[in-house]
Amino acid sequence: MRPEDILVPTPAGVCCKLGGFHIDPTRPVERALITHAHSDHARAGHGAVLATPETLDLMRLRYGENFAGSTQPAHYGESVNLGGAKVTFHPAGHVLGSAQIAVEANGLRVVAPGDYKNVPDPTCAPFELVPCDVFITEATFALPVFRHGDADGEIAKLLHSVALFPERAHLVGAYSLGKAQRVIALLRKAGHGAPIYLHGAMESITRYYASRGIALGELRSARGASKAELAGTITLCPPSALNEVWVRRFPDPVTAFASGWMRIRARARQNGVALPLVISDHADWDGLIATVTATGAGEIWVTHGQEDALVHWCATRGLKARPLDIVGYGEEDDEAVIPGPAKGTGEADE
Ligand SMILES: [Zn+2]
Ligand SMILES: [Zn+2]
Repeated sequence: MRPEDILVPTPAGVCCKLGGFHIDPTRPVERALITHAHSDHARAGHGAVLATPETLDLMRLRYGENFAGSTQPAHYGESVNLGGAKVTFHPAGHVLGSAQIAVEANGLRVVAPGDYKNVPDPTCAPFELVPCDVFITEATFALPVFRHGDADGEIAKLLHSVALFPERAHLVGAYSLGKAQRVIALLRKAGHGAPIYLHGAMESITRYYASRGIALGELRSARGASKAELAGTITLCPPSALNEVWVRRFPDPVTAFASGWMRIRARARQNGVALPLVISDHADWDGLIATVTATGAGEIWVTHGQEDALVHWCATRGLKARPLDIVGYGEEDDEAVIPGPAKGTGEADE
């Protein structure tokens, strides 16, 4: 049996004919296995969806109760037999509920982790190494220039700025699912006890995280807060809100942006970001190659970003590697979206 007999890339996403399912399909299918709730991976309109309980809850929050014909929760470590394939979900360390999906048949194991990172994150279960024959890696930050460094150090920079400018507000652009909650949890870990304010677009997801026992401290809605109240505080908002009239309600705001892309200074300048924070929910170059190596996989499929560099690196290590040309990942709300210059999306305020 060849790996392609277990999983085969199709325009709709990676497909397992043996088990009758797709993983993170980009168009509606009969049966979908979903790695995590970012909207480029988790779409509404599938017949049946198998995903972790958290991913199912987050999809419900975003798309409403009827986002799929039927749903089935998959807990970490639990195996489910689908047709001739055995599938098991393992933590991917990317966002709450994110899972690597291991598919096994005839003694061959292929692992599709979706997006992942191999560094600690107080808001989700840590990445679990799953030895496999084929590893399907993402490549969002697959260039040697991307080294994310220490997220705690970036949080210290933010807190230093808050201490320096007690009369100003700090606005932190962060993706609504995962990044925003991680920044809040890291602020708490660093000892920041003051209430943290939220843009309306991230309130329900953040409160869901808190309901799952993640310590986020006191959260307040930025809506309706006076300028005086917002002085000296930190507010989390979607990156697009940094360039909208919404910011005018804040006293002399300092704008920050938490993203792996902030390693590129020109990118931060382009976005008018005063305080770039290099914090990413994707593995950096070192993380990608360390993980690819550690899985022991002899064959690597690369998707979702800078495929070429990673495919080339694999070749120099004697690993069989190929890019998967699936259109539709790295769109919408994930960090895989490369931030462009300020464009004023007109996104609804709250
Ligand atoms: Zn993602
Ligand atoms: Zn993604």
